[in-house]
Amino acid sequence: MSLEEIERTILESCAQAGRPRQDVTLIAVSKVQPDARVLDVIGAGHTVFGENRVQEAQDRWARMPADPARQLHLLGPLQTNKARPAAELFDTIHSLDRIKLAKTLARLAQERGTSPQMFVQVNTGEEPQKAGVLPADVDGFVAECRALDLPVAGLMVIPPVDETPSLHFSLLAKMAERNGLAGLSMGMSADFEQAIAFGATHIRVGTAIFGARG
Ligand SMILES: *Cc1c(COP(=O)(O)O)cnc(C)c1O
Repeated sequence: MSLEEIERTILESCAQAGRPRQDVTLIAVSKVQPDARVLDVIGAGHTVFGENRVQEAQDRWARMPADPARQLHLLGPLQTNKARPAAELFDTIHSLDRIKLAKTLARLAQERGTSPQMFVQVNTGEEPQKAGVLPADVDGFVAECRALDLPVAGLMVIPPVDETPSLHFSLLAKMAERNGLAGLSMGMSADFEQAIAFGATHIRVGTAIFGARG
């Protein structure tokens, strides 16, 4: 798909769901993609990009032409010892998943007087190998993050590969609603249309925009 086709699909999905287009942010996931493809998407006027690793993102975005309108989102797991460069580079972090990291990010926010927006990653499938707060712990975790004055924008999920994503999208939407959170980071190349139907505010689309990764 081209960026234009994806834009058309997003418009259709929003129309079907009775939602305004501007309620859905398209994050172009540029992780591991060659610079030339990323430059094409920048050239098409896109300003919102997602990366999985702090070091890779620092390197890439130092090479790219600067744009004050650009927004960078961290989607991958964040080690506590990378919290400072992550807070310096990213506008939004989608992988907040443990108290130790929340405390470190809160300390950095105090020190810097500013903080990225945070999404709490939820392991809705309760997969042992996957990051994320377990569903039963979400309400308590969100409350702890708020008590630390972290700006919690919403919840994020990566559904199990072998399950119907809609079930996980609807579960995430319910958890966000009961916690008074407006943000829903859900939906990737294969399922962003369903995610929009279930209320996604941030869809994370990589291969559908850029092609297969290396
Ligand atoms: C890689 C990645 C994506 C993008 O996946 P595609 O299938 O390429 O669209 C979205 N979210 C996260 C957390 C990712 O790691």
